[in-house]
Amino acid sequence: MADKPLWHDQAPGRHFYRLPVTTTLTGDLTLPLHVVTGAKPGPTLALTATIHGDETVPAMMMRQLLDELDPASLSGRVCALPVCNPLSMAVFNRQTPEQHGNTDLHEVFPGNPRGNLTQMMAHTIADALIRHADIVVDYHCGGSGGRLQSRVDVNAAAAGDLKATCLAHARHFGTIMVHENAIPRSVVGYANTLGKIGFSVETAGVYLSPEDHAAYMAGGVEGYRNGMRGLEMLSEPVKPSPRQLYFPGAARKEANPTRGGFLESMFHSPAELGRPVKKGTLLGRIIDMTTLQEVEQLTAPVDGHLFFSRYSGVIDAGTKAYALAEDSGSRWLD
Ligand SMILES: [Zn+2]
Repeated sequence: MADKPLWHDQAPGRHFYRLPVTTTLTGDLTLPLHVVTGAKPGPTLALTATIHGDETVPAMMMRQLLDELDPASLSGRVCALPVCNPLSMAVFNRQTPEQHGNTDLHEVFPGNPRGNLTQMMAHTIADALIRHADIVVDYHCGGSGGRLQSRVDVNAAAAGDLKATCLAHARHFGTIMVHENAIPRSVVGYANTLGKIGFSVETAGVYLSPEDHAAYMAGGVEGYRNGMRGLEMLSEPVKPSPRQLYFPGAARKEANPTRGGFLESMFHSPAELGRPVKKGTLLGRIIDMTTLQEVEQLTAPVDGHLFFSRYSGVIDAGTKAYALAEDSGSRWLD
């Protein structure tokens, strides 16, 4: 366990490290860490992305954010880990391709240096980065299914005042929805157990249209920057958030296909996120790929507001397709 962070004697500027994890059959496994150290004192902000290997857009948001930061005017430091699970990214999959259980890096923190590969990666991230950070922001996006979404997740299990502090900072990202859930062994859950501010963000998706990708990229980078304004790392006033809908996990209602096929989606524009949807509204229909017949309709299970949906495309049975925040149980934040 490293008592001093990698960057303890670092001069202001840009730095790059490869955090060693282990040696696999295909070679050394390391995790990339970018650090931008400001000339002025301030907090250490840890940014993580690609915890799920097919959710790669936030790494590109990080790239733009880091490029645009000026160390001379930055207070504190930004430590960005663009690919937390390179093994799962290499196979375009959400989880690590390894033999035994605990293969979801979102659910194994703080990891174990003598555990499986997923647990080893979690341990490296926890030990080299999270323990030494003040704030942790973990960014997810839609994976191989081309999902649309715009929300932050705060940890329902964060203790006492910490939950309210996390919520206040999460809102600076300016997403349409604010979701309270509990994933205690996520990187954010771990950070919260150490008393650190932490939340996750979920916007965008891979393989979206050029217009949607560009809009999500701009929104993500601006979200990062506004979060940093809220932490006084940038000497700019915080921009007010749009009207945001808050909902707990119990108000999350999904409409997923019970069988595989081609999904014809009725909701495939980011502008539809956050829109009110009446119970029974047709969200999409499933066409069987062999008979070419419509075999299932997906409808809104409750009155609510849409918080994720899919583009049209092939989808398997049981895959997440649509989710609403149920009206009873949700509220607009001031
Ligand atoms: Zn994810």
